[in-house]
Amino acid sequence: MICDLRSDVLGPLSREVLTALNAAGTRAPAFTWREDIDEAALAEEAAALFGFEDSLFLPTGTLANQIAVRLWCQPGESILTDRQSHLASNEAASVAGINGAVLRLIDGVGGHPAPDQIEQGLVDGPSSAAARRVKLIWLENTHNRAGGTVMPSEYFHAISALAGAHNAALHVDGARIWHAFAAGAETSQVLLRGAGSAMVALNKIAGAPIGALLLGDRAFVDEAARVQKMFGGLWRPVGPFAAAARAALKQCRSRVEQAHETARLFATALAERCGSVFGELKPQTNIVMLRLSNESLVALLVEQARERGVRISPYRDGKIRCVFHAGVSPALAISAASVVAEVFERIGSS
Ligand SMILES: *Cc1c(COP(=O)(O)O)cnc(C)c1O
Repeated sequence: MICDLRSDVLGPLSREVLTALNAAGTRAPAFTWREDIDEAALAEEAAALFGFEDSLFLPTGTLANQIAVRLWCQPGESILTDRQSHLASNEAASVAGINGAVLRLIDGVGGHPAPDQIEQGLVDGPSSAAARRVKLIWLENTHNRAGGTVMPSEYFHAISALAGAHNAALHVDGARIWHAFAAGAETSQVLLRGAGSAMVALNKIAGAPIGALLLGDRAFVDEAARVQKMFGGLWRPVGPFAAAARAALKQCRSRVEQAHETARLFATALAERCGSVFGELKPQTNIVMLRLSNESLVALLVEQARERGVRISPYRDGKIRCVFHAGVSPALAISAASVVAEVFERIGSS
């Protein structure tokens, strides 16, 4: 058995996506920006789906996020975000090295800063406020390190009102927005309403081979295209990848639902076998975060599970992340839970 739960970029491409990739790859490539019909259509369809004026198709989510930072913040200006956000934990070097912006960190609730925490961050700046003004509020939905948690919509709407009142921009890192959309009651247009910009990943649960989208109004996207080029992120030809992404989005919903189901099956099977040794196992979306009170067991558990074909990721503070994607069937999820349980029983009692 091989069950790789290290990331949601590990799902296989579907036959429909591969067919679209192939078909677009055999026609004459386009050259200038949006000359390609699939690139132009993808940008338009994604913007409509999320209620924005326009969007920009980019090779990575990190590039999309960093273009947003560049457009909202001058060097030395501040971004308010959760301490565990992808921006603060995986992109801190990019924020500093590419954009020279300052991160101001909040300990959000399940990864999501509450409106009063944001308000405090906005008014509580250092006294040299001119230099470290908060220009940008940065939210992540769903939140990776908190375990795929969905941002409460009342938080989002309250924070968007605060951003307006304090003249700060609001960006959503929506690498996993597809999960929030499927797990909640909001339509995709309402989910991000009030954000000035957002990034959505195409290469994770959405099932495209590569890519992310940066959403914003028309002027923002025009500027974003300029910064894309400046950062060396102009990629040509993009037609086949855009065609593949469009085909992928047609199937996204069912892949999301399958991943939520397999995450639940895995969590339930593990809780039945092991009780609460991994903390509460109630995934909201496609991530199951195991929490071990004995941190020293993490490396051993990860290594021995790997030897038995189950790959999971060690995080700090006794956490282990298991991410579900289209490559995991219900039966495989249940087998993976047995492997993790057996390994834990062996090392936990030794
Ligand atoms: C994956 C991810 C990104 C970055 O996307 P890349 O395409 O890997 O650069 C940003 N934010 C979150 C929350 C992610 O999970």
